[in-house]
Amino acid sequence: MIDFKQLAEKYQTPLYVYDFDSMRTQYTSLKSAFKGRKSILAYAVKANSNLSVVKHFAQLGAGADCVSIGEVRRAFLAGIPKYKIIFSGVGKRDDEIREALERDILYINIESEAELARVEMIAKELDVQARISIRVNPNIDPKTHPYISTGLHDNKFGVDLNTAKRLYIVANNSEHLDPVGIHSHIGSQLTDIKPIREASEIVADLVRSLSAVGIELKFFDIGGGLGVRYDNEETIDPYDYAQAILSTLSGLELTVIGEPGRYLSANAGYFLTKVLYEKKNGDKRFVVVDGAMNDLLRPSLYNAYHKIDALDKEGDETPADIVGPVCESGDFLAKNYLLPKMEHNDLLVIHSAGAYGFGMGSNYNTRGRSAEVAVENGQDRMIRRRETFEDIIALEKEFAE
Ligand SMILES: *Cc1c(COP(=O)(O)O)cnc(C)c1O
Repeated sequence: MIDFKQLAEKYQTPLYVYDFDSMRTQYTSLKSAFKGRKSILAYAVKANSNLSVVKHFAQLGAGADCVSIGEVRRAFLAGIPKYKIIFSGVGKRDDEIREALERDILYINIESEAELARVEMIAKELDVQARISIRVNPNIDPKTHPYISTGLHDNKFGVDLNTAKRLYIVANNSEHLDPVGIHSHIGSQLTDIKPIREASEIVADLVRSLSAVGIELKFFDIGGGLGVRYDNEETIDPYDYAQAILSTLSGLELTVIGEPGRYLSANAGYFLTKVLYEKKNGDKRFVVVDGAMNDLLRPSLYNAYHKIDALDKEGDETPADIVGPVCESGDFLAKNYLLPKMEHNDLLVIHSAGAYGFGMGSNYNTRGRSAEVAVENGQDRMIRRRETFEDIIALEKEFAE
Protein backbone atom coordinates (compact mmCIF):
# COMPACT_ATOMS: atom_id res chain seq x y z
CA MET A 1 0.00 0.00 0.00
CA ILE A 2 1.25 3.46 -0.89
CA ASP A 3 1.19 5.99 1.94
CA PHE A 4 -0.37 8.89 0.03
CA LYS A 5 -0.59 11.10 3.14
CA GLN A 6 3.10 10.84 3.75
CA LEU A 7 3.92 11.47 0.07
CA ALA A 8 1.66 14.54 -0.01
CA GLU A 9 3.47 15.90 3.03
CA LYS A 10 6.91 15.16 1.71
CA TYR A 11 6.42 16.41 -1.87
CA GLN A 12 3.41 18.76 -1.52
CA THR A 13 0.39 18.80 -3.82
CA PRO A 14 -0.74 18.66 -6.56
CA LEU A 15 1.36 15.57 -7.14
CA TYR A 16 1.57 12.62 -9.48
CA VAL A 17 2.56 9.29 -7.95
CA TYR A 18 3.44 6.24 -10.06
CA ASP A 19 3.58 2.69 -8.80
CA PHE A 20 6.51 1.22 -10.75
CA ASP A 21 5.77 -2.28 -9.45
CA SER A 22 2.31 -2.15 -10.99
CA MET A 23 3.77 -0.96 -14.31
CA ARG A 24 6.09 -3.97 -14.26
CA THR A 25 3.19 -6.34 -13.57
CA GLN A 26 1.20 -4.91 -16.48
CA TYR A 27 4.15 -5.13 -18.85
CA THR A 28 4.90 -8.72 -17.87
CA SER A 29 1.29 -9.87 -18.17
CA LEU A 30 0.96 -8.52 -21.70
CA LYS A 31 4.40 -9.64 -22.83
CA SER A 32 3.84 -13.19 -21.59
CA ALA A 33 0.44 -13.35 -23.32
CA PHE A 34 2.33 -13.25 -26.62
CA LYS A 35 4.85 -15.93 -25.73
CA GLY A 36 5.37 -18.52 -28.43
CA ARG A 37 5.64 -15.69 -30.99
CA LYS A 38 8.40 -13.19 -31.47
CA SER A 39 7.07 -9.93 -30.09
CA ILE A 40 8.10 -6.43 -29.07
CA LEU A 41 5.98 -4.28 -26.81
CA ALA A 42 6.76 -0.78 -27.97
CA TYR A 43 5.55 1.40 -25.12
CA ALA A 44 3.48 4.34 -26.41
CA VAL A 45 5.62 7.08 -24.93
CA LYS A 46 2.90 9.73 -25.18
CA ALA A 47 0.86 7.95 -22.48
CA ASN A 48 3.42 8.91 -19.84
CA SER A 49 6.66 10.24 -21.17
CA ASN A 50 8.55 10.90 -17.95
CA LEU A 51 12.14 9.79 -18.61
CA SER A 52 12.25 7.57 -15.54
CA VAL A 53 9.01 5.87 -16.61
CA VAL A 54 10.37 5.24 -20.11
CA LYS A 55 13.63 4.01 -18.59
CA HIS A 56 11.68 1.65 -16.33
CA PHE A 57 10.03 0.06 -19.38
CA ALA A 58 13.38 0.04 -21.21
CA GLN A 59 14.85 -2.02 -18.39
CA LEU A 60 11.96 -4.47 -18.71
CA GLY A 61 12.85 -4.95 -22.38
CA ALA A 62 10.23 -2.71 -23.96
CA GLY A 63 10.57 -0.81 -27.20
CA ALA A 64 9.03 2.60 -27.83
CA ASP A 65 6.29 3.91 -30.08
CA CYS A 66 6.92 7.62 -30.61
CA VAL A 67 4.80 10.30 -32.23
CA SER A 68 7.34 13.13 -32.40
CA ILE A 69 11.10 13.38 -32.69
CA GLY A 70 11.07 14.61 -29.09
CA GLU A 71 9.65 11.28 -28.03
CA VAL A 72 12.22 9.46 -30.16
CA ARG A 73 14.95 11.38 -28.32
CA ARG A 74 13.38 10.48 -25.01
CA ALA A 75 13.38 6.81 -25.98
CA PHE A 76 17.10 6.98 -26.85
CA LEU A 77 17.89 8.85 -23.62
CA ALA A 78 16.00 6.23 -21.65
CA GLY A 79 18.18 3.52 -23.16
CA ILE A 80 15.72 1.86 -25.54
CA PRO A 81 17.71 0.21 -28.34
CA LYS A 82 17.20 1.77 -31.77
CA TYR A 83 15.98 -1.50 -33.25
CA LYS A 84 12.95 -1.32 -30.93
CA ILE A 85 11.96 2.28 -31.70
CA ILE A 86 9.08 3.14 -34.02
CA PHE A 87 8.06 6.58 -35.25
CA SER A 88 4.30 7.00 -35.84
CA GLY A 89 1.98 9.97 -36.27
CA VAL A 90 -0.05 11.61 -38.97
CA GLY A 91 2.17 14.66 -39.50
CA LYS A 92 5.96 14.42 -39.45
CA ARG A 93 8.19 17.34 -40.36
CA ASP A 94 11.10 16.84 -42.76
CA ASP A 95 13.63 17.40 -40.01
CA GLU A 96 11.89 14.78 -37.87
CA ILE A 97 11.96 12.24 -40.70
CA ARG A 98 15.62 13.04 -41.38
CA GLU A 99 16.62 12.56 -37.78
CA ALA A 100 14.65 9.30 -37.48
CA LEU A 101 16.47 7.96 -40.56
CA GLU A 102 19.85 9.13 -39.29
CA ARG A 103 19.18 7.45 -35.97
CA ASP A 104 18.38 4.24 -37.87
CA ILE A 105 15.29 3.30 -35.85
CA LEU A 106 13.29 0.11 -36.52
CA TYR A 107 10.81 1.73 -38.91
CA ILE A 108 8.68 4.77 -39.66
CA ASN A 109 4.91 4.28 -39.70
CA ILE A 110 3.58 5.93 -42.84
CA GLU A 111 0.16 7.54 -42.68
CA SER A 112 -0.36 8.88 -46.21
CA GLU A 113 0.84 8.73 -49.79
CA ALA A 114 2.33 12.20 -49.50
CA GLU A 115 4.27 11.16 -46.44
CA LEU A 116 5.65 8.10 -48.22
CA ALA A 117 6.95 10.39 -50.95
CA ARG A 118 8.59 12.72 -48.39
CA VAL A 119 10.28 9.82 -46.64
CA GLU A 120 11.53 8.46 -49.96
CA MET A 121 12.93 11.85 -50.92
CA ILE A 122 14.72 12.35 -47.63
CA ALA A 123 16.08 8.78 -47.67
CA LYS A 124 17.44 9.49 -51.14
CA GLU A 125 19.14 12.68 -49.95
CA LEU A 126 20.74 10.74 -47.11
CA ASP A 127 21.47 7.81 -49.41
CA VAL A 128 19.83 5.28 -47.08
CA GLN A 129 17.00 2.79 -47.35
CA ALA A 130 14.14 3.81 -45.09
CA ARG A 131 12.45 0.93 -43.32
CA ILE A 132 8.74 1.68 -43.33
CA SER A 133 5.43 0.29 -42.26
CA ILE A 134 2.09 1.53 -43.55
CA ARG A 135 -0.73 2.37 -41.22
CA VAL A 136 -3.86 0.74 -42.53
CA ASN A 137 -7.24 2.08 -41.57
CA PRO A 138 -9.44 -1.03 -41.59
CA ASN A 139 -12.65 0.99 -41.25
CA ILE A 140 -13.71 -0.80 -38.07
CA ASP A 141 -15.73 0.86 -35.36
CA PRO A 142 -13.85 0.22 -32.13
CA LYS A 143 -16.87 1.24 -29.99
CA THR A 144 -14.93 3.67 -27.86
CA HIS A 145 -15.08 7.44 -27.26
CA PRO A 146 -15.12 9.30 -30.62
CA TYR A 147 -12.12 11.43 -29.57
CA ILE A 148 -9.99 8.29 -29.17
CA SER A 149 -11.43 6.30 -32.06
CA THR A 150 -8.97 6.15 -34.94
CA GLY A 151 -9.85 3.20 -37.19
CA LEU A 152 -12.75 4.62 -39.21
CA HIS A 153 -12.44 6.35 -42.57
CA ASP A 154 -13.71 9.62 -41.16
CA ASN A 155 -10.69 9.75 -38.81
CA LYS A 156 -7.49 11.41 -39.98
CA PHE A 157 -5.36 8.32 -39.35
CA GLY A 158 -3.88 5.81 -41.80
CA VAL A 159 -4.83 4.91 -45.38
CA ASP A 160 -7.56 2.62 -46.72
CA LEU A 161 -6.80 -0.94 -47.83
CA ASN A 162 -6.57 -0.28 -51.54
CA THR A 163 -4.28 2.69 -51.08
CA ALA A 164 -2.15 0.63 -48.70
CA LYS A 165 -1.69 -2.10 -51.25
CA ARG A 166 -0.73 0.37 -53.93
CA LEU A 167 1.74 2.11 -51.60
CA TYR A 168 3.40 -1.18 -50.69
CA ILE A 169 4.02 -1.80 -54.37
CA VAL A 170 5.43 1.72 -54.78
CA ALA A 171 7.66 1.21 -51.74
CA ASN A 172 8.80 -2.19 -52.87
CA ASN A 173 9.89 -0.76 -56.23
CA SER A 174 11.80 2.10 -54.64
CA GLU A 175 15.55 1.95 -54.11
CA HIS A 176 15.20 4.02 -50.98
CA LEU A 177 12.24 2.39 -49.26
CA ASP A 178 12.11 -0.96 -47.53
CA PRO A 179 8.60 -2.02 -46.55
CA VAL A 180 9.10 -4.18 -43.46
CA GLY A 181 5.88 -3.84 -41.50
CA ILE A 182 2.19 -3.20 -41.45
CA HIS A 183 0.43 -1.17 -38.81
CA SER A 184 -3.08 -0.55 -37.56
CA HIS A 185 -4.38 1.12 -34.44
CA ILE A 186 -8.17 1.37 -34.31
CA GLY A 187 -8.58 3.37 -31.15
CA SER A 188 -7.88 3.67 -27.48
CA GLN A 189 -9.53 2.30 -24.36
CA LEU A 190 -10.84 -0.73 -26.28
CA THR A 191 -13.00 -2.99 -24.15
CA ASP A 192 -14.59 -5.11 -26.88
CA ILE A 193 -12.51 -7.87 -28.43
CA LYS A 194 -14.53 -8.31 -31.61
CA PRO A 195 -13.35 -5.19 -33.48
CA ILE A 196 -9.77 -6.09 -32.53
CA ARG A 197 -10.08 -9.55 -34.08
CA GLU A 198 -11.83 -8.16 -37.16
CA ALA A 199 -9.19 -5.49 -37.73
CA SER A 200 -6.42 -8.04 -37.26
CA GLU A 201 -8.08 -10.39 -39.78
CA ILE A 202 -8.37 -7.64 -42.37
CA VAL A 203 -4.75 -6.60 -41.94
CA ALA A 204 -3.51 -10.22 -41.94
CA ASP A 205 -5.35 -10.83 -45.21
CA LEU A 206 -3.60 -7.84 -46.70
CA VAL A 207 -0.26 -9.30 -45.57
CA ARG A 208 -1.14 -12.54 -47.40
CA SER A 209 -2.10 -10.75 -50.58
CA LEU A 210 1.14 -8.75 -50.45
CA SER A 211 3.07 -11.96 -50.01
CA ALA A 212 1.35 -13.31 -53.12
CA VAL A 213 2.92 -10.49 -55.12
CA GLY A 214 6.34 -11.02 -53.59
CA ILE A 215 6.26 -8.44 -50.79
CA GLU A 216 7.27 -10.19 -47.58
CA LEU A 217 6.73 -8.20 -44.39
CA LYS A 218 8.43 -8.94 -41.07
CA PHE A 219 6.45 -6.94 -38.53
CA PHE A 220 2.75 -7.06 -37.73
CA ASP A 221 2.10 -3.93 -35.69
CA ILE A 222 -1.23 -4.17 -33.88
CA GLY A 223 -1.07 -0.69 -32.37
CA GLY A 224 -2.13 -0.05 -28.81
CA GLY A 225 -5.52 0.64 -27.37
CA LEU A 226 -6.06 -2.11 -24.83
CA GLY A 227 -8.55 -0.68 -22.35
CA VAL A 228 -8.29 -0.46 -18.59
CA ARG A 229 -10.79 -0.21 -15.77
CA TYR A 230 -11.51 3.37 -14.72
CA ASP A 231 -14.90 2.63 -13.17
CA ASN A 232 -16.49 -0.78 -13.65
CA GLU A 233 -15.83 -1.42 -17.34
CA GLU A 234 -15.40 -5.00 -18.49
CA THR A 235 -11.87 -5.12 -19.79
CA ILE A 236 -10.13 -7.54 -22.12
CA ASP A 237 -7.85 -10.14 -20.59
CA PRO A 238 -4.36 -9.81 -22.11
CA TYR A 239 -4.30 -13.51 -22.92
CA ASP A 240 -7.60 -13.28 -24.85
CA TYR A 241 -6.31 -10.17 -26.59
CA ALA A 242 -3.15 -11.97 -27.71
CA GLN A 243 -5.10 -15.05 -28.80
CA ALA A 244 -7.56 -12.96 -30.83
CA ILE A 245 -4.66 -11.48 -32.77
CA LEU A 246 -2.48 -14.58 -33.03
CA SER A 247 -5.44 -16.63 -34.30
CA THR A 248 -5.52 -14.43 -37.42
CA LEU A 249 -1.83 -14.95 -38.16
CA SER A 250 -1.68 -18.67 -38.89
CA GLY A 251 0.87 -19.48 -41.55
CA LEU A 252 2.50 -16.05 -41.26
CA GLU A 253 6.04 -15.70 -39.92
CA LEU A 254 5.72 -12.27 -38.42
CA THR A 255 7.06 -10.57 -35.33
CA VAL A 256 4.14 -9.04 -33.47
CA ILE A 257 4.61 -5.46 -32.33
CA GLY A 258 2.26 -4.03 -29.73
CA GLU A 259 2.08 -0.34 -28.86
CA PRO A 260 0.42 -0.32 -25.45
CA GLY A 261 0.29 2.93 -23.54
CA ARG A 262 -2.67 3.19 -21.22
CA TYR A 263 -2.62 -0.52 -20.37
CA LEU A 264 0.90 -0.22 -18.97
CA SER A 265 0.61 2.99 -17.02
CA ALA A 266 -2.95 4.25 -16.41
CA ASN A 267 -3.82 2.36 -13.25
CA ALA A 268 -0.31 2.63 -11.89
CA GLY A 269 -0.73 6.39 -11.50
CA TYR A 270 -2.43 8.55 -8.91
CA PHE A 271 -3.01 12.28 -8.81
CA LEU A 272 -2.99 13.80 -5.34
CA THR A 273 -4.76 17.05 -4.67
CA LYS A 274 -5.69 18.93 -1.52
CA VAL A 275 -8.99 20.54 -0.68
CA LEU A 276 -8.90 24.32 -0.48
CA TYR A 277 -12.52 24.89 0.51
CA GLU A 278 -16.10 23.91 -0.03
CA LYS A 279 -18.68 26.27 -1.48
CA LYS A 280 -22.31 26.28 -2.54
CA ASN A 281 -24.02 28.10 -5.38
CA GLY A 282 -27.68 27.70 -4.57
CA ASP A 283 -28.09 23.98 -4.02
CA LYS A 284 -25.02 23.06 -6.01
CA ARG A 285 -22.07 21.82 -3.97
CA PHE A 286 -18.48 22.44 -5.07
CA VAL A 287 -15.27 21.14 -3.57
CA VAL A 288 -12.45 23.44 -4.68
CA VAL A 289 -9.06 21.72 -4.81
CA ASP A 290 -5.49 22.75 -5.62
CA GLY A 291 -5.25 20.50 -8.72
CA ALA A 292 -6.90 21.54 -11.97
CA MET A 293 -7.46 20.88 -15.66
CA ASN A 294 -3.92 22.05 -16.40
CA ASP A 295 -2.72 19.09 -14.29
CA LEU A 296 -5.26 16.44 -15.31
CA LEU A 297 -7.16 17.31 -18.47
CA ARG A 298 -9.03 14.07 -19.12
CA PRO A 299 -12.23 14.98 -17.25
CA SER A 300 -12.47 18.32 -19.12
CA LEU A 301 -11.41 16.93 -22.51
CA TYR A 302 -13.25 13.60 -22.62
CA ASN A 303 -15.62 13.92 -19.71
CA ALA A 304 -13.54 11.03 -18.37
CA TYR A 305 -14.38 9.38 -15.09
CA HIS A 306 -11.71 8.85 -12.44
CA LYS A 307 -12.30 7.05 -9.18
CA ILE A 308 -11.55 9.35 -6.24
CA ASP A 309 -10.82 8.55 -2.59
CA ALA A 310 -11.20 11.08 0.18
CA LEU A 311 -8.48 9.88 2.54
CA ASP A 312 -9.47 9.25 6.15
CA LYS A 313 -12.87 10.87 5.69
CA GLU A 314 -16.15 9.42 6.83
CA GLY A 315 -19.72 10.54 7.15
CA ASP A 316 -22.73 11.17 4.96
CA GLU A 317 -21.87 11.53 1.32
CA THR A 318 -23.56 14.02 -0.99
CA PRO A 319 -22.81 14.82 -4.63
CA ALA A 320 -20.24 17.53 -5.34
CA ASP A 321 -18.39 18.85 -8.35
CA ILE A 322 -14.67 18.69 -7.69
CA VAL A 323 -13.22 21.78 -9.35
CA GLY A 324 -9.84 23.46 -9.67
CA PRO A 325 -8.75 27.09 -9.48
CA VAL A 326 -8.47 27.56 -13.27
CA CYS A 327 -10.73 30.22 -14.75
CA GLU A 328 -12.82 27.96 -16.97
CA SER A 329 -16.19 26.37 -16.31
CA GLY A 330 -14.73 23.28 -17.94
CA ASP A 331 -12.19 23.03 -15.15
CA PHE A 332 -13.37 20.04 -13.16
CA LEU A 333 -11.92 16.74 -12.01
CA ALA A 334 -15.30 15.13 -11.32
CA LYS A 335 -18.98 15.97 -11.51
CA ASN A 336 -21.60 14.94 -8.98
CA TYR A 337 -19.13 12.80 -7.09
CA LEU A 338 -20.30 11.46 -3.72
CA LEU A 339 -18.10 12.91 -1.01
CA PRO A 340 -18.37 13.41 2.73
CA LYS A 341 -18.01 16.93 4.12
CA MET A 342 -14.50 18.11 3.24
CA GLU A 343 -12.23 20.50 5.04
CA HIS A 344 -9.17 22.58 4.22
CA ASN A 345 -6.13 20.36 3.53
CA ASP A 346 -8.07 17.10 3.23
CA LEU A 347 -6.43 14.89 0.64
CA LEU A 348 -8.11 13.48 -2.46
CA VAL A 349 -6.49 10.61 -4.34
CA ILE A 350 -7.53 10.48 -7.98
CA HIS A 351 -7.02 7.05 -9.48
CA SER A 352 -6.04 5.87 -12.97
CA ALA A 353 -4.00 9.00 -13.61
CA GLY A 354 -0.84 7.32 -14.92
CA ALA A 355 -1.69 7.66 -18.62
CA TYR A 356 -2.59 10.86 -20.45
CA GLY A 357 -2.30 12.69 -17.14
CA PHE A 358 0.85 14.70 -16.58
CA GLY A 359 1.72 14.64 -20.27
CA MET A 360 -1.40 16.59 -21.24
CA GLY A 361 -0.60 19.18 -18.61
CA SER A 362 0.08 22.83 -19.35
CA ASN A 363 1.02 26.09 -17.73
CA TYR A 364 -2.41 27.60 -18.29
CA ASN A 365 -3.13 30.34 -15.72
CA THR A 366 0.65 30.44 -15.05
CA ARG A 367 0.39 27.36 -12.93
CA GLY A 368 3.56 25.31 -12.56
CA ARG A 369 3.21 21.68 -13.44
CA SER A 370 3.11 19.12 -10.62
CA ALA A 371 6.02 17.12 -9.35
CA GLU A 372 6.12 13.41 -10.21
CA VAL A 373 7.15 10.68 -7.82
CA ALA A 374 7.91 7.00 -8.38
CA VAL A 375 7.26 4.31 -5.79
CA GLU A 376 9.13 1.04 -6.23
CA ASN A 377 9.75 -1.74 -3.72
CA GLY A 378 8.34 0.44 -0.96
CA GLN A 379 10.73 3.33 -1.71
CA ASP A 380 9.68 6.69 -3.13
CA ARG A 381 11.78 9.03 -5.23
CA MET A 382 11.21 12.22 -7.16
CA ILE A 383 11.30 11.78 -10.93
CA ARG A 384 10.38 15.34 -11.89
CA ARG A 385 10.56 18.36 -9.65
CA ARG A 386 7.72 20.81 -9.35
CA GLU A 387 7.87 23.68 -11.84
CA THR A 388 8.63 27.07 -10.39
CA PHE A 389 7.53 30.51 -11.56
CA GLU A 390 11.08 31.03 -12.85
CA ASP A 391 10.78 27.86 -14.97
CA ILE A 392 7.54 29.06 -16.48
CA ILE A 393 8.81 32.47 -17.59
CA ALA A 394 12.33 31.36 -18.50
CA LEU A 395 11.70 31.49 -22.27
CA GLU A 396 9.99 34.90 -22.20
CA LYS A 397 11.86 36.88 -19.63
CA GLU A 398 14.80 38.15 -21.69
CA PHE A 399 12.44 39.56 -24.34
CA ALA A 400 10.51 41.65 -21.83
CA GLU A 401 13.48 43.31 -20.18
C1 LIG B 1 -1.98 6.63 -28.76
C2 LIG B 1 -1.41 5.53 -29.55
C3 LIG B 1 -1.06 4.32 -28.94
C4 LIG B 1 -1.32 4.03 -27.49
O1 LIG B 1 -2.67 3.92 -27.20
P1 LIG B 1 -3.16 3.38 -25.79
O2 LIG B 1 -4.62 3.45 -25.88
O3 LIG B 1 -2.60 4.25 -24.74
O4 LIG B 1 -2.66 1.98 -25.67
C5 LIG B 1 -0.45 3.37 -29.72
N1 LIG B 1 -0.22 3.57 -31.03
C6 LIG B 1 -0.54 4.71 -31.65
C7 LIG B 1 -0.23 4.88 -33.08
C8 LIG B 1 -1.15 5.73 -30.94
O5 LIG B 1 -1.49 6.86 -31.56
